Amino acid sequence: MREFETVVGLEVHVELKTESKIFCSCPTKFGGAANAHICEVCAGLPGALPRLNRKVLDYAILTALALRCDVTRESRFDRKNYFYPDLPKGYQISQLYAPIGRNGYMDIDIAGSPETGGSSADEKRRKRIRIHELHMEDDAGKLIHEETENITRIDFSRCGVPLLEIVTEPDFREPEEVTAFLEDLRRLLKSIDVSDGKMQEGSLRVDVNLSVRPKGEEALGTRTEMKNLSSFRAVTKAIAFEADRQWEVLRGGGVIQRETRRWDEQKEETFAMRKKEDASEYKYYPEPDLPVLHITEQKIDEVRSVLPELPGEKKRRYIKEWNLPEYDAGILTENKEITVLFEKTAEICKDPKGASNWIMGEILKILNDMNMQPEEMKVRAESPGEIILLVKEGRISRASGKELLRAAFTENAMPEEYAEAHDLWLISDPEKLADVITEVLEKNPKAVGEYKSGKTKNFQFLLGQAMRATGGKADPAALRKALEEGLAGPDLL
Ligand code: ADP
Ligand code: MG
Ligand code: ZN
Repeated sequence: MREFETVVGLEVHVELKTESKIFCSCPTKFGGAANAHICEVCAGLPGALPRLNRKVLDYAILTALALRCDVTRESRFDRKNYFYPDLPKGYQISQLYAPIGRNGYMDIDIAGSPETGGSSADEKRRKRIRIHELHMEDDAGKLIHEETENITRIDFSRCGVPLLEIVTEPDFREPEEVTAFLEDLRRLLKSIDVSDGKMQEGSLRVDVNLSVRPKGEEALGTRTEMKNLSSFRAVTKAIAFEADRQWEVLRGGGVIQRETRRWDEQKEETFAMRKKEDASEYKYYPEPDLPVLHITEQKIDEVRSVLPELPGEKKRRYIKEWNLPEYDAGILTENKEITVLFEKTAEICKDPKGASNWIMGEILKILNDMNMQPEEMKVRAESPGEIILLVKEGRISRASGKELLRAAFTENAMPEEYAEAHDLWLISDPEKLADVITEVLEKNPKAVGEYKSGKTKNFQFLLGQAMRATGGKADPAALRKALEEGLAGPDLL
């Protein structure tokens, strides 16, 4: 049992996937030559005036609603003044006094850990993480340190890329809660299509604020802020390291400095980067070049009307309405592409449970074998549902269904055409099957005789013979019926 408790609050920066920047019309695309996408606005030339990208505001309102925030009716921008070489304007345009969203929350499901009582991975507990606020701001440029030449270059192309900053309340107590939140947040952002949520590529950047306090203590301890966490693994390790470090300091009678620390990926430890600035040191003041945003009820309703069902709600509905196991429902709502595939498939085969089973049992395996992320799959949306239907209707066997499914993913096979070309059709024509049965009965007079005098288990034998006679191509249910009829019919012998 640990004698202290860890308290964590997050600041998450989300890069929005708009075509153009937040205050000018430069493209947000990366990958070109350095400084390829800059203009007088984002490069901070004197006299250039910013204009808010409408799409950024729409995305911000959408995200605020998805995070159950109150949308601020008179939201505005503020200047956060500081000097840094990657910030040509000398200030960031952010929101301090009237951020676009406040007082939201997100419910997360956390896999049970021994610390918290749960034991198995299936056992999940739900926790509400409160969102303190959500605001819009512009990104800074990128410093590229050339160690060998001992110089630093600056790429301003990232200046003005739109960011949303999501600030949580200090509601986390365990690293698992933090990673569960980040996973759910990423899923949510992708499902509402405002960001690609790629942590490694910097479109989801996480700062971890952390303090420790003795177990049972109410008052929060002094916190440090950790930056440069670019993977879930780094977040988990950094939290463990920093909590232990702080507790050691406190136990030794020391005090925690309010500072920004950097996580060193190689050494797996944090080190002090700079003393933490207070808001007052940034000399924030209302941005004079941008008007106050008057957000109407109508505007909010408009955005709300395009808010899709969120992954958490979807998952609960799958469990309740369709009786899917919690685990399956979690996987099916984990990823937007899989969710879309599942819903389309369920609609076509009119069997959500069957669609779920095929996806969980076969499709995920196929993707795995192909070493493919769901985002990369190019399967025709209708194919899986049509294939399941072919199996359900007894037109092809289960095994053929699996083969066909694989072909649909790997070579874009069209179900009917492929079944035709590979002779997968099962024989279900009653007349054809009756002929097969007649032949089998004629060939096996002894077994038939025994059956008629009460040896009922010979039925299975005769069915096997009949199936073999069709080369395994008979619809099992139809063949069984034909055999029953054949045996009940007039004595052929
Ligand atoms: P700043 O902008 O100076 O970083 P904020 O007030 O915006 O400060 O808070 C930043 C984050 O720090 C929030 O996520 C909040 O939940 C978290 N936080 C605040 N106090 C503590 C604390 N004592 N321990 C851990 N996290 C904290
Ligand atoms: Mg901060
Ligand atoms: Zn620009």
